[in-house]
Amino acid sequence: MTDIINILPDSVANQIAAGEVVDRPASAIKELLENALDAGATSIQLIVKDAGRTLMQVVDNGCGMSESDARRCFERHATSKIHRADDLFAIRTMGFRGEALASIAAVAQVELKTRTTDAEWGTRVVIEGSDVKEQAPCSCATGTSIAVKNLFYNIPARRNFLKRDSIELSHIEEIFKRVALANCQTAFTFHHNGRLLYDLRADSFVRRIAALFGLNFKERLYPIEEQTEPVRLKGYVGKAEYAKRARGEQYLFVNGRYIRHLGLSAAIERAYAELIPDHTYPAYFVMLEVDPSRIDVNIHPTKTEVRFIDEQVIFAILRAATKKALGQFSLANELEFNPSTEIDFSPAPQGYTPSAPQVHYNPHYNPFSGSHSSRQSPSANDYRHFFDNTDATDEKDSTGTGIGNLLPDEPDPSPMPSGQASPICYLNRYIVTTLKSGIVVIDQQRAQERIFYERLMQRRASAHPDAQQLLFPTNCSFNSADSEMLTELLPELRQLGFVIEPLGHNTFVVTAAPTEMKDNELQPLLEQVVAEYKSNMMQRFNERDKSVCLSVAGQMAARSGKALKPEEMQHLIADLFSCQAPDISPSGKRIMFLLSEQELKEKLNKS
Ligand code: ADP
Ligand code: MG
Repeated sequence: MTDIINILPDSVANQIAAGEVVDRPASAIKELLENALDAGATSIQLIVKDAGRTLMQVVDNGCGMSESDARRCFERHATSKIHRADDLFAIRTMGFRGEALASIAAVAQVELKTRTTDAEWGTRVVIEGSDVKEQAPCSCATGTSIAVKNLFYNIPARRNFLKRDSIELSHIEEIFKRVALANCQTAFTFHHNGRLLYDLRADSFVRRIAALFGLNFKERLYPIEEQTEPVRLKGYVGKAEYAKRARGEQYLFVNGRYIRHLGLSAAIERAYAELIPDHTYPAYFVMLEVDPSRIDVNIHPTKTEVRFIDEQVIFAILRAATKKALGQFSLANELEFNPSTEIDFSPAPQGYTPSAPQVHYNPHYNPFSGSHSSRQSPSANDYRHFFDNTDATDEKDSTGTGIGNLLPDEPDPSPMPSGQASPICYLNRYIVTTLKSGIVVIDQQRAQERIFYERLMQRRASAHPDAQQLLFPTNCSFNSADSEMLTELLPELRQLGFVIEPLGHNTFVVTAAPTEMKDNELQPLLEQVVAEYKSNMMQRFNERDKSVCLSVAGQMAARSGKALKPEEMQHLIADLFSCQAPDISPSGKRIMFLLSEQELKEKLNKS
């Protein structure tokens, strides 16, 4: 048999490597920004056109490259950052694999201009699909400018795979934020299609956070700091009340590198257990410093995944530090308002035997007994409209909630037993009420979400959504990228009853909103809608209108009153049952369950 093995030409090997390192414009930008930082730049400009499709350019004032390095940097495994294998255990630079520029040059048209401080002239290199087209001296500033044009021009399949501009831009923006956060002592600008999106000067970490996420962000954070042998950490964690339903501003850095680490993220999130509702997520910006020989950053080509030798210890320290920040600061706030509150933690005197606290209760109390005459009980007619709606019975049962059992086969003239109790609210979270065939427990927030969602969807379907003019138009401000995203969503928001006009400088005025909204809730609601849209659109960008409606409904539900009066609960129950799908929340969660008389009996008879 003849020999069949070839060594691949460099251009092909580079294209293959590019598949791992450069999968979209944002990843090329990450490599270029990191190279600029490794070159010691104190000021970095990022210039992007058409979300990176046409142009991605990074200009830095770093050390620059010599004439021959300017050419060599595009070769595979060309790096100035490590020399031997041992160096891998003391890495302080962002790059070290020497494959980014080779990969980028394999799949784009690249123009490099670079000059070192001591050189009189700079060097210009043009390279396309790994082919050097030009190399000549040029006049240019000290530092390096790399312009990457027409990414994937030679791989149409990959180019077609790129998502629409707003999605690619939000990936770029995310990369930019990570790099800018990790390097607050470096100045950055970011232009997209000639518009200045960010202009960041060298600053403190917290001011950098504010510059990226909005000035009011500072008030939402507590500082966190801990100095230990295996890890030194500092940064900020979000106050519990600002936790969001989407994992938004969660940033973890190790030795100046943004990382994704499920374990360490869980360490922070677990510190919030009991403080925030399920499926909400706190913001955090935490920097870890760890001895480079105790971590391995070389487990993934983009180096966002890192392994720690002391993972368990670091986990415990991080969780404890977060708890301390939350506990310490929230307690401090409480005490400020209530200076007389002092808790005596001193040890009990010797010989003292503590006695069990006395709890007084009424053993005959029955919340369902109907004896609370001050509360208005619902009449059978209040519920008639949904009991009569027998068509929906089968459909409801198919969800497995058992709610179909509530609905009698034959319309019953008295579905509500006489002496029916008012609904109570348990923990300000569940509504417990009795219906014809048993006790039903309703998740209040999910019920509200369903009601708002259906109202909003109805509004959307009508040609003229009934927006309510606000008495005082409200201004809302965003960072540049969010304001661009919000502009994109204005048509959908208008269909739901919001009238929002851009005022320029990333500020909008809201002149009308759905009837249920309060003025002071508009800014946080819109922020959250944009955040959720950003995180959803990666997966479900085709259903934009529905996803906007879903997050507006979710936000309205989260912000509507928690402690309801009995008559409000009754309205809510009636509204819920007039919905098309009263048993499942628009995000697919169960809203209620029924405990039938039979089940109740069985449970009580179990020994
Ligand atoms: P790595 O960063 O892993 O070393 P790259 O392919 O990103 O590999 O870059 C190759 C080399 O080119 C770097 O090691 C560095 O010496 C040089 N280089 C790249 N970008 C710059 C820059 N902006 N300024 C100075 N030198 C640079
Ligand atoms: Mg690099």
